[in-house]
Amino acid sequence: MSDIERESMEFDVVIVGAGPAGLAAAIRLKQVNPELSVVVLEKGGEVGAHILSGAVVDPIGIDRLLPGWREEEGHPFRTPVTDDHFLVLGPAGSFRLPNILMPPLMNNHGNYVVSLGNVCRWLATKAEALGVEIYPGFAAVGLLYNEAGAVTGVVTGDMGVEKDGTHGPGFAPGMALMGKYVLIGEGARGSLAKQLIAKYHLSDGREPGKYGIGLKELWQVKPENHRPGLVQHSFGWPLDMKTGGGSFLYHLEDNQVAVGFVVHLNYKNPYLSPFDEFQRFKTHPAIRGTFEGAKRLGYGARAITEGGWQSVPKLSFPGGALIGCAAGFVNVPRIKGSHNAVLSGMLAAEHVCDAIAAGRANDELASYEAAWRATDIGKDLKKVRNVKPLWTRFGTIVGVGLGGLDMWLNTLFGFSPFGTMKHGKAD
Ligand SMILES: Cc1cc2nc3c(=O)[nH]c(=O)nc-3n(C[C@H](O)[C@H](O)[C@H](O)COP(=O)(O)OP(=O)(O)OC[C@H]3O[C@@H](n4cnc5c(N)ncnc54)[C@H](O)[C@@H]3O)c2cc1C
Repeated sequence: MSDIERESMEFDVVIVGAGPAGLAAAIRLKQVNPELSVVVLEKGGEVGAHILSGAVVDPIGIDRLLPGWREEEGHPFRTPVTDDHFLVLGPAGSFRLPNILMPPLMNNHGNYVVSLGNVCRWLATKAEALGVEIYPGFAAVGLLYNEAGAVTGVVTGDMGVEKDGTHGPGFAPGMALMGKYVLIGEGARGSLAKQLIAKYHLSDGREPGKYGIGLKELWQVKPENHRPGLVQHSFGWPLDMKTGGGSFLYHLEDNQVAVGFVVHLNYKNPYLSPFDEFQRFKTHPAIRGTFEGAKRLGYGARAITEGGWQSVPKLSFPGGALIGCAAGFVNVPRIKGSHNAVLSGMLAAEHVCDAIAAGRANDELASYEAAWRATDIGKDLKKVRNVKPLWTRFGTIVGVGLGGLDMWLNTLFGFSPFGTMKHGKAD
């Protein structure tokens, strides 16, 4: 990174990734201190381009970040959840679990079915209105350090590099973006986050990170098959009872349905293809009717973090911090992480503002690391901390049942008979 002469730009805060975490952090920084210079780098060609859309969002984060958003024209939370279905699928049949069995945290009423890409585009307009500079189309590909070993900035990718690595005629070196603090909001398994976790041993003393692969498709369905606000989850077929995972099917606005499938990446069968399982799932008698005469509009896949409470690495390192899914804040049974991404971006931003106000720069935001477990993020993740390890250990039928019981006990009594279970080995 250092042998090329690069242009350099100075900011107070550099944020990598214009997902819910990065954008919430940018907005919060400017809300607290409008004088700060804040830049957001986004590798997608536009904000939202790399976001897997079609999600159910708990508005707790947006309510805190932008109180009053409900009164605004044109916000992207257009479809409140109207109905919550939990199905267990067998090869030919299915049955619906009574909602009353579900712990309250699994209840989706009050949440919204959204395009997460549109939510990010909307957040980006809010950030820009506050003076945040957002650069889509620029990936942060490297980190810059000072002599003390603290992060001082990031480098964007070089343009015009030939396939063999030599500089072509259109070569333009990437830029160095320097900041007092760098916030990493790359999402799951980001390349910079992986380097930082290794360099600063951020996962020492934590359980290994666990992951799933999530595949998602957006469909335009016939109006007679569309039930705006319906949220449906399933587990079971086509996965065997030793393989963790399940489906989701969310009815958005405009006759659109987001359907997806998650497979936990500790599956044992080497021939299993998550993509093929997803395609088979859509042929189930309880599912296929939705897609008759429908048209697929888009599709994508993304890693999802599943380690939760016991796997979250240390969030702070000299010169910056991890936010959102870079830290692994997904609540696995809820299949939700965007609310915690927003809350963690805000929390990190507040600690950055305090540090800068105290005249600090490029040091460790230890207070952010110390704070998160007592916040709503920690409360959300702690209650569900054993769901994934129980599923891994006891399989789908027993493991999911025990996970449900454990969530009830944690919710009602703040107690788990299992304590905090270990995940065991990395996937
Ligand atoms: C299949 C699936 C279904 C899900 N369903 C839901 C749901 O219904 N509800 C919910 O709340 N959550 C859901 N989630 C989780 C949710 O998507 C994440 O928790 C949330 O998007 C995390 O936000 P983030 O900002 O941390 O990361 P992301 O949303 O992943 O955003 C990261 C951004 O950073 C950019 N980026 C990454 N690396 C770089 C780099 N080096 N330089 C520049 N830019 C970079 C990416 O392009 C991306 O735009 C789901 C996840 C999956 C995989």
